[in-house]
Amino acid sequence: MPTSNLTLASEVKYLKGVGPARAEVLATRGISTVEDLLYYAPFRYEDRTRLTRIHDLIPGQTTTIFAKVLTCGLMRTRRGTFIFDLAATDQSGPGGIIRCKWFNAVYLHRQKVFRQGQRVFFYGKVERDPFGTGNLQMIQPQYEILPESEEGGRDSLEVGRIVPIYESIGRLSPRVLRRLISTALEALGDRIPDRLPPSVLGKNKLMRGARAVRLTHFPENEDKLEDLSRFRTPSQVRMIFEEFFNVGAGLALRRRRAKAAPGIEFRVRDTVRAAIKRVLPFHPTAAQKRVLKEIVDDMRSPPPMNRLLQGDVGSGKTIVAVQAALVALDNGYQVALMAPTEILATQHFFYIRDLLAPLPYSVDLLISARRARAKADLKERIATGAVNLVVGTHALIEEDVQFARLGLAIVDEQHRFGVMQRFKFIRKAATPDVLVMTATPIPRTLALTLYGDLDFSVIDELPPRRTPIETRLINESGRQAAFDFIRAKVRGGEQAYVVYPVIEEAARPDIRTAVRMFEYLARNVFPEFRVALLHGRLPSEEKEGVMQLFKRGEIQILVSTTVIEVGVDVPNAAVMLIEHADGFGLSQLHQLRGRIGRGSAQSYCLLMAGDSPNEVADERLRTMCETTDGFRIAEIDLKLRGPGEFFGTRQSGIPTFRIANLLRDQEILEWAKREAAEFVEHPASREEFESYVAFLRKDWPRRYGLAGVA
Ligand code: ADP
Ligand code: MG
Repeated sequence: MPTSNLTLASEVKYLKGVGPARAEVLATRGISTVEDLLYYAPFRYEDRTRLTRIHDLIPGQTTTIFAKVLTCGLMRTRRGTFIFDLAATDQSGPGGIIRCKWFNAVYLHRQKVFRQGQRVFFYGKVERDPFGTGNLQMIQPQYEILPESEEGGRDSLEVGRIVPIYESIGRLSPRVLRRLISTALEALGDRIPDRLPPSVLGKNKLMRGARAVRLTHFPENEDKLEDLSRFRTPSQVRMIFEEFFNVGAGLALRRRRAKAAPGIEFRVRDTVRAAIKRVLPFHPTAAQKRVLKEIVDDMRSPPPMNRLLQGDVGSGKTIVAVQAALVALDNGYQVALMAPTEILATQHFFYIRDLLAPLPYSVDLLISARRARAKADLKERIATGAVNLVVGTHALIEEDVQFARLGLAIVDEQHRFGVMQRFKFIRKAATPDVLVMTATPIPRTLALTLYGDLDFSVIDELPPRRTPIETRLINESGRQAAFDFIRAKVRGGEQAYVVYPVIEEAARPDIRTAVRMFEYLARNVFPEFRVALLHGRLPSEEKEGVMQLFKRGEIQILVSTTVIEVGVDVPNAAVMLIEHADGFGLSQLHQLRGRIGRGSAQSYCLLMAGDSPNEVADERLRTMCETTDGFRIAEIDLKLRGPGEFFGTRQSGIPTFRIANLLRDQEILEWAKREAAEFVEHPASREEFESYVAFLRKDWPRRYGLAGVA
C-alpha cells in the first residue's frame, strides 16, 4: 500500500520506514496501526531552541547540551567495576568541556556507540566532579547522537525546536520514533478524523483532534516548556480529555445498558427478616446496616444491581453479602459466591453452611480440585435448582455451569479477577443482580475509571472492639527477639502466621523460602508447638485440612505464602511475621496484615527486612508502620508504583491509558467523565450520537480491553 493512501487504521508496517521487523517491535507496546503510533505520546520534551553552552552551565541545573565527542572509553575502578567515560566540548570558550559518565556501561564500549567527532545531545543534571579537577560532569545522561548527514538542517526534527522525547521501544530509540511519527503525520496530511463529537469539542472549547495530535508531538516553539512538562498545553489537554472521555462514555453506555435490562424485583418479606435475625452472629455496625440497605434497595428495584461493596480488610463484608444472599434465597432464587482462591472459597463455604444450618437451604462448594464425579453431580444439581447457594472459585463461570434460577451473583475480592470475568458472570443467567466486593481501597481516581459503571457502597467503619495493629520493622539482628516474641504470644494462647514470599525455589540463594523455613522453624525454633505449612501448590484437600486445623486452634503457627493474602479469617491469630517484607508491594502487605487484628486482642505485625538500599521499599515499610488506614495506604501505593501497576499483574481490567495519567490528570478525568455522562444522557443529535457510538464500539474493546459497550 503506498504511503499516500495511509489512514489512521492502516497497519503500521505499511508506514515508510517501518517494515515487518520494526512492526514487530512496535507491537510489543500494543502499536499495530498508524493511529496507535500517533497516540504514543512523548513522556517529556527538550527545549533545543536555545541550547545552554557548556561554558555557561551551572552545577545543579538539569538541561540539554549539544557537544562534540573528544575522547571516550571504558575505565576500571579500583573496586573492579567499570565506568564509561566521555569528554565532549562545544567550544564555548575556556571550560567548554564536560565529562559524561555511565556506570557499568560495558555495552557502550562493546557496541561502539560513541566515536570521536560525533555530535551528541546530552540531557541530565550538571554537577562538579567531586574528585580530581572539579570539572563539570553529567552522570548517566540521556543522549541522542546526530547522524553526520543531518547536521542542523533547517527542518531538522532534532535541533532548533522543542523536541519530543519518547520512551524507547526495544531498540527503537526516541530519535527513530520521532522520525516515524513525523513521517506518519506528513503522509496523513489532513486525513485525521476527530475522535470527539463536534458538539463536545465546541462546548468545551477543545482544540481539533488533528491539530492536537500534531502539536503534542511537535510543539510550536512558542509553547512553554514548563506547560509541556506538566502536560497542560491546549493540545495535550485535548488529547488527555479525549482519552478519558472515551473511557467515560464507554462506561456510561455500559451502565445504561445494564440498567435497561429487565432485572429481578426481589421482595423483602417478614420471613427473610426472621431468617436474618435467626442466623446473624453479632450486631451489625452502622456502616454494615447502611450498605445492606443500599444493596437491598437495588435488589428490590427492577433494574439489575451492579454494585461494588468496598471495605477495608476486616471491615465485615462477608456478613453483608450473606444477608443479601438470604434476600435472594427467600425469593426462591439461587445465589453464587465466587472467590479468587480455593482456600477462601472453602472458608466461605464452611462459614456459610454452618451459619445457614438452621435454615432450609442447601449450600455447596464448586472448586476444580473436587473429584470429577462430585463436580458433575454438583453441576447437575445447580442446573436443576436443587442447590440454593453455591460457593466456588472461577470454576463457577466455566461454560458448563448452568444455573436454574440465578438471582444474585457475588464476587469476593473483585480486584483479583479481571473485569471480563465479572461480565462472564453476568451473562450466566438472564440478568442476575451482581455484587462485587473488594478489600482493596481504591483511590477515587482509579475507582472513577475502573468501576465507573458500578454503583458504590463503602463500609467505612470497623467492627467494635478492634485494637489497631501494632507494626514494627526489624532487621536480621532482631530475628531471635522476634521468635521469642512469637513464642511468648503462642504460649499465651494466641496463634501466629509466618509469611514468606516464595514457596520453594528462590532465584537468589539468600531468599528464605516457605518450605525450607517451615522445616527449620518446626524442628529448631518452635519444637514445642504445632507448626504447619500452607501454600498454593499443596493438594486441595491438604490445604483445606490445614486451614481447618488452624481455624480450630489445633495448629498454632502457620508458615505460609501469600495464599493467605485474601479473605482468610482466624480471629485468634494475633501475630504475623513477614520475612523479606521489603519484597512485597504495599497493598499486598496491607492485605496480608489484614489477616490479624480480627479479634479483640492487641495484634502485632513484624516486618523483617534486609538492610535494603531501596528507597521505595523503605517508604513502603515506613508507611506500614505509620498507618493501618487502607485508603491512605492505597494512595501512597498508587504514588509509589504509578497507576499501571497499582494492582500488580493480576489485575486485567484497568484501561491502560496512553497519554492520560491518573495521578497527574485527576481534574481532567472528572471533567471528561462529567461531559461523557452528559453526552450519553443528552446527546446533541441522534446522528452525532450514533456515529460516535459506532466508533467507540469498534475502538473500545481493542484499545481498553473491555467488552460490551452498547
Ligand atoms: P472482610 O471485610 O475483610 O471480608 P470479614 O467479613 O472476614 O471481613 O470480617 C472480619 C471479622 O470481623 C470476621 O471475624 C467477622 O466475623 C467479624 N465481624 C464482622 N462484622 C462484625 C460485627 N458487626 N461485630 C463483630 N464482629 C464482626
Ligand atoms: Mg473478605
